Amino acid sequence: MSETLTSIRSRIAAATLAAGRPADAVQLVAVSKLQPWEHIAPVFDGGQRVFGENRVQEAKERWTPYRDQIELRLIGPLQTNKARDAVALFDVVETLDREKLARVLADEVQAQGRAPRLYVQVNTGEEPQKAGVTPGQADAFVAACRGTYGLAIEGLMCIPPADEDPAPHFLMLAEIAARNGVEKLSMGMSDDFEIAIACGATSVRVGSALFGAR
Ligand SMILES: *Cc1c(COP(=O)(O)O)cnc(C)c1O
Repeated sequence: MSETLTSIRSRIAAATLAAGRPADAVQLVAVSKLQPWEHIAPVFDGGQRVFGENRVQEAKERWTPYRDQIELRLIGPLQTNKARDAVALFDVVETLDREKLARVLADEVQAQGRAPRLYVQVNTGEEPQKAGVTPGQADAFVAACRGTYGLAIEGLMCIPPADEDPAPHFLMLAEIAARNGVEKLSMGMSDDFEIAIACGATSVRVGSALFGAR
């Protein structure tokens, strides 16, 4: 069962308050990937204006008619051959995870004169099947993005292992961000966003709890 936008927002507000954080500290990113429009429409009509998608083409098809009304975030892996489209389409790319992609994004930003805000994805659980730099590589990677490629890094993003307590992963991400002077933390999904908020999330990516199972 999906919850209404109002219900998710009040859970976010309660978790933010409980963590002693300012009321506007946490942004809801509504993850609309693979959802039919009839599931998205009530959320859009309810005033939600920040959406996350994990594929460039799907995002383009779904959101082009509404593009000037929403903030659109890429939360799935980005292939370098899609970087041009991604830079043209997204306000935020949360999945910067390798030097080759940093280089291609920097070239596209230069060419298009349009710069999506960037998050570095960190594979906190060091899972082989998951994208992201390892925690051990994170400092050097953030430094290379800034220094070598001239990219501003707005935040870090992680997806903890499905079968583990997510809190240590969220806290690790917060620590990496703090020591690198990175401001934002994209962490927490349907099953664990309240824990993420307690650990310092500045945005939570909620899909199935809001829209129903995919
Ligand atoms: C699909 C997805 C989400 C949303 O997951 P839910 O469990 O449906 O809330 C969040 N983040 C990423 C990176 C995703 O791919």
